[in-house]
Amino acid sequence: MERAKIRLCVEHPLGEGQAVPLNEAQAHYLFGVMRQGPGARVALFNGRDGEWTAEVAEAAKKRGTLICLGQAAPQLNPPDLWLIFAPIKKERTDFIVEKAAELGCARILPVQTEFTNAGRIKQDRLQAHAMEAAEQCLGTFVPTVDDMAPLRKLLDGWDPARRILWADESLVGAAETLAGLTPGPWAILIGPEGGFSESERAKLRALPFVTPVSLGPRILRADTAACAAITLWQAALGDWR
Ligand code: SAM
Repeated sequence: MERAKIRLCVEHPLGEGQAVPLNEAQAHYLFGVMRQGPGARVALFNGRDGEWTAEVAEAAKKRGTLICLGQAAPQLNPPDLWLIFAPIKKERTDFIVEKAAELGCARILPVQTEFTNAGRIKQDRLQAHAMEAAEQCLGTFVPTVDDMAPLRKLLDGWDPARRILWADESLVGAAETLAGLTPGPWAILIGPEGGFSESERAKLRALPFVTPVSLGPRILRADTAACAAITLWQAALGDWR
């Protein structure tokens, strides 16, 4: 089935002949902003059933209905990689979430560290950013964005079966590479603009499931570091090999 150009992430199950109701925001986007009408083709995905080409059956100002015609792409889940990061300024935090979704993270966990200077995050707004990133990059999966949690609490309740690749800025320039690491459930940890505190560093170093890594000879901005670390991991252990 040919892929439609306009993509929409929906909650609803998708399948042959399935009628998919649109909420007000989706109707406004499709019929108001994108000027589509009955008979138009739209690509739908819900993060579980792959991408389906659907046809607009009913178009109204605040609602609408699409009918699934056929599957255009199979469900493609990312590797089992999470991103743990300390939020920074709003636009750059948005950027980190958007790039983590595009680069193939399965879950995004904002954390409060000692030097995190961003206020509270709006989890629903960041989740919408992740969804828009998936719509844009032809993804069929949308990573979950958690609400912010204290780093210490996250580590205390951590499942040791998931290893943490800790981008430790104190290793700047060292040759800590990913060689020798094995595939499996991983999480990448990126600190805030102020970096990690000495007590956080000591706690992380003492955890058997934490592997420190250098991101080269220069100190990167947190958003650059997140992209660099995910790229390194994907190329070495993920679905870019
Ligand atoms: N204020 C810190 C300093 O001057 O050392 C820099 C923190 S940096 C802006 C934000 C985060 O990016 C760090 O906590 C770390 O997770 C990551 N990072 C940046 N450059 C890195 C590098 N060369 N090696 C490892 N991690 C790095």
